[in-house]
Amino acid sequence: MATRIDILTELNLAPVWRRRAAATVSQTSGEAFVHVQAAVVPIASALDNSPAALDARRARIAALEWDAFASDVEACTACGLCRTRNRAVPGVGDVRAEWLFIGEAPGAEEDMRGEPFVGQAGRLLDSMLLALGMQRRRNVYIANVLKCRPPGNRTPEPQEADACRPYLERQIALVGPRLLIALGKSAASLLLGTDASIASLRGRVHSYQGRPLVVTYHPAYLLRSLHEKAKTWEDLLLAKRTLASLKSAKGA
Ligand code: URA
Repeated sequence: MATRIDILTELNLAPVWRRRAAATVSQTSGEAFVHVQAAVVPIASALDNSPAALDARRARIAALEWDAFASDVEACTACGLCRTRNRAVPGVGDVRAEWLFIGEAPGAEEDMRGEPFVGQAGRLLDSMLLALGMQRRRNVYIANVLKCRPPGNRTPEPQEADACRPYLERQIALVGPRLLIALGKSAASLLLGTDASIASLRGRVHSYQGRPLVVTYHPAYLLRSLHEKAKTWEDLLLAKRTLASLKSAKGA
């Protein structure tokens, strides 16, 4: 069903603006004054899809530091998911982690809490981390390809992944992990630029921008296919060996 913004766009009346904060009214010497605070912010800024606007956005995100990162994601309106999210889900963990796990997109619980992998799949991820001697807030960082929940947990649209990609790339650059783990097909496809199945991508070490990348099944899939858990465990051990050999090669 067409939304109000879709209709206004069709009529060339977009972008649409909304008030950031309510105007307040105060009374001084019998006169009413209206204070409009920080007037308006765009809610569909990505409607400006010109190459120059997209380049400017990419450059701005590529320069974000941690202190501005989460609030920038929370204010993002680059795709339609900003209209349906409760909370954006920037990422969580050790900002100097050696391991960076990348999932698909927030689900219902993540959307309510603003933190990735806090639902059932997240609890499984936590147990896998524990088995490796790690914890989500120590030595690992966890992010998603999409920072906002697609309604009904549908698969991310390519344009949503494209719009969100600068944030993931900035997180990778800021954390500087030694190793990336792609959890499931969305993350693997985005990072490796392939539509190949997880079964064909797992079990070997790939490379993303010079960093080793291991692909494995998404924890939500493992909840439905318990027999694949052993394969994921093999993949995590492969990642651990890869990291150990990297460190010994570098003497670190
Ligand atoms: N699935 C994901 O890919 N990410 C989350 O944060 C939660 C579930």
